[in-house]
Formats: sequence, structure tokens, C-alpha cells
Amino acid sequence: MSLLDRRTVLIAGVAVTLAGCGDSKDSSSTPSPSPTPSATAPSSTTPPPSTTVPTTPSSTPSTSAPTLTSTAPNWNTFASSLKGRVYLPSTSGYAAAHQLFNPRWDSVRPTAVVKAANPADVQKAVNFARTNKLVLVPKSGGHSYVGASTIANGLQLDVGALKGMSYANGVLTVGAGARLYDVHAFLDRYGRSLPTGTCPTVGVAGLTLGGGMGIHTRTYGLTCDRVVSMGVVTADGKAHNVSATSESDLFAALRGSGGGNLGVVTSFQFATIPATKLGFFRLTWPESQAAAVVNGWQKFAQSAPTTVWGNLHIDAKSNGTLSIRVLGVSTTGDGTAAAAQLESFVGAKASARTLSVKSHLEAVQYLGGGTTSPRQGFLAGSDVLKGPMDAATITGLLGAVKAAARAGTPASAILDPLGGQAAKEPAGGSSWPWRSALAVIQWYSSAQGTSAQTFISNGHRAVRSSSAGGYVNYVESGRAVSSYYGASAAKLQAAKKKYDPANFFHTPYTLS
Ligand SMILES: Cc1cc2nc3c(=O)[nH]c(=O)nc-3n(C[C@H](O)[C@H](O)[C@H](O)COP(=O)(O)OP(=O)(O)OC[C@H]3O[C@@H](n4cnc5c(N)ncnc54)[C@H](O)[C@@H]3O)c2cc1C
Repeated sequence: MSLLDRRTVLIAGVAVTLAGCGDSKDSSSTPSPSPTPSATAPSSTTPPPSTTVPTTPSSTPSTSAPTLTSTAPNWNTFASSLKGRVYLPSTSGYAAAHQLFNPRWDSVRPTAVVKAANPADVQKAVNFARTNKLVLVPKSGGHSYVGASTIANGLQLDVGALKGMSYANGVLTVGAGARLYDVHAFLDRYGRSLPTGTCPTVGVAGLTLGGGMGIHTRTYGLTCDRVVSMGVVTADGKAHNVSATSESDLFAALRGSGGGNLGVVTSFQFATIPATKLGFFRLTWPESQAAAVVNGWQKFAQSAPTTVWGNLHIDAKSNGTLSIRVLGVSTTGDGTAAAAQLESFVGAKASARTLSVKSHLEAVQYLGGGTTSPRQGFLAGSDVLKGPMDAATITGLLGAVKAAARAGTPASAILDPLGGQAAKEPAGGSSWPWRSALAVIQWYSSAQGTSAQTFISNGHRAVRSSSAGGYVNYVESGRAVSSYYGASAAKLQAAKKKYDPANFFHTPYTLS
């Protein structure tokens, strides 16, 4: 695949514009054979309660040794009780163990990283953290936009090794640490698939708990809508198997509330979908038709058959111009009619038009830019469009990307359609709050400093009158946590009170 093609397919991915997806798995080549816990105890601090997330990484690197306290956690005893491993800052392999996908968060150094080998380890880690008053954050694929799966002065619980899979009677059972490409490659053997996002290394847990949008969203719903049951460890250390008929309030709350809020999920069961051939279409228009394309795409998002999905990319180019394109997919296996329908809504033929048909796994690799990819720095945010934008709002949106282009800031607005099956509440309920929304806009920049933040802020401002809130899987610094939950906020507060009454799962990004 040429660089241009790779760049194109990456930006075709729902959230992957200009980024690619990377593997934040432990790359340490020489991990020590057994845990080498330090006898020195860490200090434990709980971040102050806040309803607004911070605007900078939540800690600076700690260079001093942990403080010994009279209630020092006994890391040796804890480590020897586990099948998995504990990494303290002094342990070989710690540097790789604590990393996330985005290098931006490398400076956040947890007191310890626990790599759980099984659900019992998860229970032990939760009990240990609670007893020792350590903040605990779960980590699956490590792709959190704000580094929510790492924590300074706390315990990072990595479930990445819980990645076993089995399939029977249409149902996939998968450990919470599995990555998306591995899930698709496994299901492909059975002629089955799952609606997911496109990045091959995103973790199934983080994606599912926050919703999970991708090419199948309109035909089969969100990833969370396909969950049949979950294994979850709550703040009291108890293991639950939740479903529509067992602790259904926790089941529904977990489907869309975002990771890290209500417990540590150890496994999922999903109702799979057929792995069919997919008809792709890619249409490009000149910048002069940008407003007509946005307007036409909105009509398309409202009226296209539920078998059709297409996301709109408005990219700032380094020469100061805009690139405008739609990457679409028809689950019927032929995208010809959908492409023509989109052109008719736009009112102009595309200046470039590509149609192709791909098998399930070809499509997964095409959208993900391969089977894995390197870590990537970026800054991003989102707005959920409650309905079609009016002409002035479209002008504002285009102006925000244009301003970035003129300033030489790499920037994209990526509009993912909702609707179809995603507009329907799944059996068993969910907490995904955006069933009636039109689309999600992601504001994405591979620059990470002030220029990227300016672009994102301009984007928010431009669409304010059409925005219902944000998508929790694109969680962002400096934004009220409640803005991700819409009308589900009360239901989630009730679940939080019931299943985590002492607010054990507590960071600036969680419900409180
Ligand atoms: C390159 C890239 C591409 C993306 N593409 C898409 C896309 O196409 N569609 C889409 O919808 N989203 C997409 N996303 C967003 C992605 O869904 C979220 O970032 C998601 O939360 C990542 O999950 P993770 O397990 O990899 O991350 P993590 O950082 O491990 O976890 C994310 C959150 O979930 C919590 N968590 C992790 N594991 C567990 C667990 N076992 N139990 C409870 N809580 C847990 C963490 O504490 C954290 O708060 C993309 C993100 C990136 C970086």
C-alpha cells in the first residue's frame, strides 16, 4: 500500500485521521522473570473531586523515591498472591509497562502497574488498592484520549493479558484485554464479525464501555449494543456476571458509560454479526463545494438506507486548502447506489470516485491501515450533533478547519453518522445517551500544543448551537464530565451510588 493510500485509509477510519493506530503492548524485550517489588512503599493520594477534567497531564514525572508511611502497602505479599505481575518504578520493564498509545502520557508514572493474568488477579488488585487507599485505573488497549488509563500516585491495572476468545452459537466470549484486530481475525475463522471501531490496537473494553462506533453502526448498532453479558469486578472486590436478566441495572449502565467508572470488566460476551463482503465508495470534492458537501452529507446521514454508512472528512492541508471527502460502506456488498445517492444530495458529481468490494478481513485491514501500527501523539475532542447544522453553522465549521489550514496546523473534522440501528435502544438497555443524534464530529490534530487546542476550541464554538454534548470515547480535557452523558446522567449516578458508594473508581474523568 502506498503512503498516500495508507494515509487515506487511515483517515477513512472513524477516528484515525492522520494518526494510524499503535500497539502499546509491553515491548520490553527483557522483562525480569518474576516481580521484583520494592520494599519501599508509595504514598497514596486521591485526586480532589472535580466535575471538570484537567487541561494538562494529571502529573509530572516523579523523580523522588516513594514515601514510606506507617500504613505502607506490602507489595511483596501482594505480588506473590498474583498469577500476574507487579511493576514498580524500580522494576525492569516498568517503562514499557506503564505506557499508553499516546506518548503524551508517558510522563504520568503510576505507583505500580499490575498486569493481571486472570479475573482473580483483578479482584485481588481492587481489594489491595482499596485497602491501601490507592487510586486504581483499569487499562485495556491504552488508547484513552486523556490518559485516563494511567494515574500518578496510583495503581494502573492492566487487563491486557485477559485476551482469550471462544466462539459458539453466534456468541463471542472474549477477555477484556483483547485488541480489535485480534477479535476480527478470530471471528473471521467462523465467518462472523462484530461492529467495532477501526483501529486494530484499540482495546475491546475501552471501546465497548464507551459505545463503539464504526462502519457497521447504522446496520447493526454500536459495539456496546451487541453485548450479551459481562464479567465485572466492582469496588468491593466482588465478581459479577451481569446481563439483561442479572443485575440488569449495572449491565445497562456499563453499556455506554465509558470505562473506569463502575468496575473493572474482565470479559464480554457479544452477539456477533455475519462477516459479509462490503462495498466501499470514496468520493472527493473540491474545496469550492465544501458547504454543499456538508449539507448533502447531512441529508445522506438522515435518509440513506441503514445498510449504508459514510463518514465525512474535512482535512486542513499543509498548503492552506481543505480536502473534502466521504468514505462510505454498504453492507449489501455494493456501494454504487449509495455513492450516487450521496452525489445527488450534494448536487454535484464527485471530482474523484473509487468503488471497491472487500472481504471482511480485507476491509478490517484497509480501514485500520494494517494489523497494527505505531504509537501516535495527538489532541482531539468531539461534539455530538443533535440534528442537521444550518448554513451558518456549516460555514463556522468549515471556517474552523480553514483557520487551522492557514495557520499550518494539521487538523481534521471527521463526521461519523449515527442513526439506523444505533438510534434504537438495544434489548436490555444501555446508557449510550445519543440515540436520537445525527452524528459525532471529532476534532483531531496530530499537533499537540496550543495550535491544536485552538483548533478544537474553534470547532466547539462553531457548532455550539447544534451540539448536544461529547462522545465519551473521545473524552477531552477541560470539559465537564456530565457533558458526555446527556439524559443518561441520572441513571448513571444511581448505578454509581449503588455499585461504588464510596467512589472508589475516582479520577477527574469519572462520574462522581
Ligand atoms: C487511534 C484511535 C482510533 C480510534 N478509533 C475509534 C473508532 O473507530 N471508533 C470509536 O468508537 N472509538 C475509537 N477510538 C476511541 C476509543 O474507542 C477509546 O479511546 C477507547 O476508550 C479506547 O479503549 P482502550 O481499551 O484502548 O483504552 P484504555 O486507555 O485502556 O481505556 C479507556 C478507558 O476505559 C477504561 N478501561 C479500560 N479497560 C477497562 C476495563 N477492563 N474495565 C473498565 N474500564 C476499563 C480506562 O480506565 C479508561 O478510562 C479510537 C482511539 C484511538 C486512539
